[in-house]
Amino acid sequence: MNANNKDHAALADEFNKDEPRVDWHDETLWFVRQKRDKAAARVADWEVLRDTASRIKDNVLSRLSEYLQQFEAAATANGIVIHWAADAAEHNEIILSLLRQHGVDQMVKSKSMLTEECGLNEFLEEKGVGVVDTDLGERVVQLAGEPPSHIVLPCIHKKKEEIGEIFHKHLGTPAGNADPQFLTHAARLHLREKFLTRRVALTGINFAVAETGEFVVCTNEGNADMGAHLADVHIACMGIEKLIPQRRHLGVFLRLLTRSATGQPITTYSSHFKRPRPGQEMHVVLVDNGRSAHLGRKDFRNSLKCIRCAACFNTCPVYRRSGGHSYHTAVAGPIGSILTPNLDMKKFADLPFASTLCGSCSNVCPVKIDIHEQLYKWRQVIVQEGYAPAGKKAAMQAMNWVLSHPAVYHTAGRTGRWVMAHVPFTVNNGLNAWYKQREMPAPPAASFGEWYKKNYEQQGKNTGNDKK
Ligand code: SF4
Repeated sequence: MNANNKDHAALADEFNKDEPRVDWHDETLWFVRQKRDKAAARVADWEVLRDTASRIKDNVLSRLSEYLQQFEAAATANGIVIHWAADAAEHNEIILSLLRQHGVDQMVKSKSMLTEECGLNEFLEEKGVGVVDTDLGERVVQLAGEPPSHIVLPCIHKKKEEIGEIFHKHLGTPAGNADPQFLTHAARLHLREKFLTRRVALTGINFAVAETGEFVVCTNEGNADMGAHLADVHIACMGIEKLIPQRRHLGVFLRLLTRSATGQPITTYSSHFKRPRPGQEMHVVLVDNGRSAHLGRKDFRNSLKCIRCAACFNTCPVYRRSGGHSYHTAVAGPIGSILTPNLDMKKFADLPFASTLCGSCSNVCPVKIDIHEQLYKWRQVIVQEGYAPAGKKAAMQAMNWVLSHPAVYHTAGRTGRWVMAHVPFTVNNGLNAWYKQREMPAPPAASFGEWYKKNYEQQGKNTGNDKK
């Protein structure tokens, strides 16, 4: 449920009111998925790479505390200041205290889903600190007063005409101009002034190398580099699972990440940060926020392997047609649906049900997370823990009873067919959500079981195998 007590189904209903937008959203993300397929097919050892990445991450998760300490020691030796945050509140307070130490109330920030997860922008704005998101898509949704709807393509739900209106309102571009090149140029001018005047820059981290204490930030726009290189203070934030053991392992992950995300062979900028330049301060905030607890969940710990490529979003038929905001969480899509119940099982009890369990997410995941199996397991945990809606639970119990009693099942089937054939309005009416977007075929005269029994017996008689 979101703040307005709406669950995924209700929020998806809202998104579905604009059918052309749904079609366009669906087609655009499917196009990205196809680009991913072509990029993956060009790498002969793609499956070996996926397997290797998955095993490296297995190793990281089983020795996480060791690698974290190794990273801290190496980064500290490089001159980076390490901070530890147990949860979102601690993370936000650390950032605020760093800003206060430097007497700063404005900063630039490149894309970091962790800061979205921690609600950093809202927290800092309440404290009087202005944050400018410098990723173009993130700046668009920030100006629109919305959260990102996709972890790689934050404003994928917006049409260029809407972006033209937002820029006209906030950046003073001419009304009605929705030319993408013009709008990008306007954003560049607007952001350049911010880059040049902000003394603190915050970035995310894609990979942190335990062996060397360095970290890598991947962007297509160079905004993380621009912010970090111009600022006196560079703060980088990461979830504790973002570690990899050695620098050579980057060759595996960097090849997988962008091919899986957008179908590009490599991210435009894969920048390595190892130490602050002379006169600069560099801080890394290592954030737990439920990750240790997740690590202790045997069936679900693998989801911490995620490298946030969003391939599972782009392939998911439910995500593509329900939009990212319907997941009411920072990391939406299939991976968000298996990460968030760990953070708050009651609030996110709806998300594991927002799936067809088709398994397409697991098929494309570059680190081989068994996403659809975890979705199925979360459903069971949520029901056992009492967080499933009472109506759904009662219906499932009733169905369980019917399916366990063949005589009841056959009688129910016969009754259902009679009702649909003779008084269809009792089930096909405005109160039944199932019929809103479906046309049911005419009910058959007999069930498959009855048909099979009859034909099997007939066949038995014809071949002389009838035992009667
Ligand atoms: S779960 Fe896999 S496919 Fe989905 S975002 Fe994470 S790494 Fe990518």
